[in-house]
Parts: sequence; C-alpha cells; structure tokens
Amino acid sequence: MPARDTALKQLMRLITSVSEMKALTRGTRSRGKSVGLVPTMGALHKGHITLIRQAKQQCDVVVTSVFVNPTQFGPEEDFERYPRNLDKDFNLLSSYNIDTVFAPSTEEMYPEGFQTFVEPGPRGEIYEGAARPGHFRGVSTVVVKLLNIVQPDMVYFGQKDFQQAIMIRRLVEDLNLNVRLVLCPIVRDEDGLAISSRNGYLKPAQRESALALSRSLRRAEELVHSGESDARKILEEMRGMFKESSRIRVDYLAIVNPLSFEPVSRITTGTLALVAARIDRVRLIDNAILGPVGTSPEDLLQMALSAPAVSTTEARAPGIDAEAVMHKIEGCRDCAAISTILLPPREFMASYIKRDYPDLSSVRTAVIGRHATARVDNSFYRNNGRPNRFVTALYDLLGITTFAEFKKRFILTDVIQCHTSAPRVPDKAMHYCSRHLRNELSLFPNLESLVVLGEDAYLGVQRFLLERGPDKLQSFSNFMGSEGWVEERADISCLDNRSVRIFYCHHPSLGYQRSPSLASALAK
Ligand code: AMP
Repeated sequence: MPARDTALKQLMRLITSVSEMKALTRGTRSRGKSVGLVPTMGALHKGHITLIRQAKQQCDVVVTSVFVNPTQFGPEEDFERYPRNLDKDFNLLSSYNIDTVFAPSTEEMYPEGFQTFVEPGPRGEIYEGAARPGHFRGVSTVVVKLLNIVQPDMVYFGQKDFQQAIMIRRLVEDLNLNVRLVLCPIVRDEDGLAISSRNGYLKPAQRESALALSRSLRRAEELVHSGESDARKILEEMRGMFKESSRIRVDYLAIVNPLSFEPVSRITTGTLALVAARIDRVRLIDNAILGPVGTSPEDLLQMALSAPAVSTTEARAPGIDAEAVMHKIEGCRDCAAISTILLPPREFMASYIKRDYPDLSSVRTAVIGRHATARVDNSFYRNNGRPNRFVTALYDLLGITTFAEFKKRFILTDVIQCHTSAPRVPDKAMHYCSRHLRNELSLFPNLESLVVLGEDAYLGVQRFLLERGPDKLQSFSNFMGSEGWVEERADISCLDNRSVRIFYCHHPSLGYQRSPSLASALAK
C-alpha cells in the first residue's frame, strides 16, 4: 500500500469488508457511542460535505459509505462512466476528520447468488421512478443493506434527492428499521446549479443551459413570495424558462404535496416544486420547497415534512398560538433530535390533546415519566389509561382511580428523552429534545405542579428544564432522602417564569422504593 494511503488510513479507517464494518460499529455501539451513516456514491462535493458536517455535529462516530450501486442504474444509464475517484474522496474526507470510510466492492455487496431485492411501493414508480424504471428498487435494496451493515443511529440524506428521501422514510417505517433519518438542504454552486457529481459531465455551454432548472425553481419561489398560489400559473412560467435552450429537454416538471407526491392546484407552505431535465445526454434533477419569504432552508424542510400533520390539528390552547406550538411539537417529536430530521410520523401530543383535552386550561399537573410512556408502542393514551402495572401505581400515587379523573386534572408526558435509542443519544441531541417538553408544558395555561417520576426524569428535569449543571446535581438516592418524595418550588421559564411546585417521586413501577400518595399534597 502506498505511504500516503497508509497515512490516510491512520487518520480515518478505510473498510472494504462487510464483516469488518459490522464488527467496527458493534464495538462502537457497545462503548455507548452513537453512529451516523452518510451514504454516498463518491465523487464527493460540497453537498456531501454538508451531510457529513451535520452527522459530525450529531453523532459520536461518522461512517461515510462510498459505493456506486449498480442496481440503481438502468441498462442505458451512466453506471460505467459515473465518476469514481477514491483517492480524491479520501483526501477530501481526511480534511473533515471523518472516522470511517466504508467502500466495499460490487462483489462484496452483491456476491454471487445474490437475489433478494426491496420493492418500493407506488411512490417509487412516479417521477424519478417512472423516468428510471427499477431505480428506487436498487436504492431501497442498497440502503437497507447499508443500514444493516453499519447499524447507524442516524442516517443522512440530501434534499437534492427529495423523492428518494421520502421513499426511504416510508421504507424505514414499513420495515421497522431502527434508525432516524436526517435530511439536509440542497447545496448550490454560485450560479445556482444544484451541486451534483454529474455536473462534471457538463461542458460550459451545457452548464449554461442546465441553469434553467434552478432558474425555473427560483421563478416559482419569486411568484409564491409575491402572492401567487395557483400551481398551474407557476408551472406555466417555469416551463417558459426552458424555452431558451434547444439542447435541454424537460423530463418532468411538477408541483406536488411533499409527502404524497400528488400534484396540487394550490400552493401551501411546504409544497414541493420538482424538475428533471436532460441537457444532451446529461440528466439532472432539482427541487425547491415553497414557503414564506425569508424562511430558512431548514425551516422549509421542516414545513414540508410536518405541514400536513399540523393542518389536521384542531387543538386550541387559550392565549397561545396552538398551531405554531403543535408545529414544533410534531416536527420535534417526529425528529427527536434536531431541526431537520425527517422521520416516520408518530402519533403523539397533537392527536391525544385533540381527543382527550377539549379544555387545556383544566389541567393543573403535568406528570413527567421516565420515558416512552406516550410512545405509540407503549401508549398510556392510546390504551385509554387502561390499568397495567404502571398505570395502577400511577393512579395510586395521584390518588385517583380512573382515566376520566386523570384527564380532568393531569397530563402525562415523558422526560426529555430523545426517542432515538436512548442510551446512545448525545447530550446535544437532548438539548434539542428538551424543547418539545417545554413546548408541551406551555400548552397548559394553568399548570401549577409537576410530578416527576423516578431517577431519569429527575435528571432530565433538573438538567434540561431547570437548567442546572450536572455538577450541581445530587445522586437521586441522596436527593430523595427518607420521606419518599421531595417537593421544591421553581420558576419555569417556558411557563412565563411562573412558580411551580415540583414533586419528585420514586418511579411508580420501576425500582424497589415507592412514594406515598401525593393526593393531599396536590390538593393543597
Ligand atoms: P450521491 O452520491 O449522489 O448518491 O448522493 C449522496 C447523498 O448526498 C444523497 O443523500 C444526496 O441527496 C446528497 N446530495 C447530493 N447532492 C447534494 C446537494 N447538492 N445538496 C445536498 N445534498 C446532496
């Protein structure tokens, strides 16, 4: 191996074998570290680098895969001539302090006898799927393989391939894959062209023609910003931008719902405009999320991913903009850790508030659980507070006997807890995550007290709601003393600095110790 390769390999690990890759992440995870995966086909550029940067910010260890996947190319496509330059990629990655590059050979990924494919649903057959038959089947298959090999906590994709990202989101949901998706905005060159490994095919005159893609999207944005909401008129104007060059042929040009990909007639916040075109033999794609003037690319992504859920929310909280808060909750609950995460939507606060709390002002006490009490698969609300070990003990603690009584005065939520895979969630993700607890609490205008269940909730509330440094925290057992519960008063910033009583208790169904009933203390 040349000396330079050896030196690079010391900085970042180059792995080409599936078994070595599996062993490496198994070890990483067993040390409690989180793993992020950035799948690429190499020929790395600034677009890839934003994904890598985001992953570095959020995960302890980042694996970048470099694999030109043959199964996603059609027979007439550019698989053979697709740019490959591993040396250059390694050089670039080494300057970003990447931990691991996974660059398997085709034989390693598709050994002889390989025959199983992941078939995407109907959304894999429209737009890119229609233009490139079999493309999304190949993408789905390789993504599932990479996820199984690397076992990351987070996986990073670009908005540039928006349809791909939405399809993978579906795949993650449908196949119950244990990973969170993060979507990063499109990176463009100075002239506006979305950066792509295929831009290298373009000669200067072709590049000039290619600018019609981004210009048409820019035009759509301008029209929306000036108040136009008729998709037909916008499409007409966009189409006009392609008339200037005879060497460009539009494959498709559409304005769609960002999640269903169904064409829309009216633009709403988060609507997606997408385009694919051929400049001679070079095929390029691009898209833009339409929204209010001045919205950041990250917020636009969030709007595209969460707008439909918000629009169905009918909850109203007196005195606050419930929809705005709901928006954040949906976005954050779905994403758990950061602003631009895209995840399969989960039923959460919006749906149970709508159903169970017609009057948010009646709620006086928020019960903050250890975690997962409100999750889909373990939901107190979904099961209508049906007694189980936890629910019975909780009712005893609060001095009530039925779900109806519970809903009159209490809400149950979970402590700041990134819903990824808790043990490996980095602190910075927890900070993001704490936002949704604050948002939730601020929905209830007459909140007077918090009941905090168990050690994890104690630590979460102390650190992320009361913002006390870890050095100021006593161990839970010292803090609890012998009484069985501890009361303190604290001003809570998300509740307009109102003074709230906080009751710390032993968890009602975990551990060995039990707290006596809080009924009379809560009634005071
Ligand atoms: P590729 O190597 O083309 O398969 O792309 C790997 C990942 O990088 C995909 O998730 C792409 O969506 C993303 N990506 C490619 N180009 C860009 C770009 N210009 N901006 C943001 N992400 C990008």
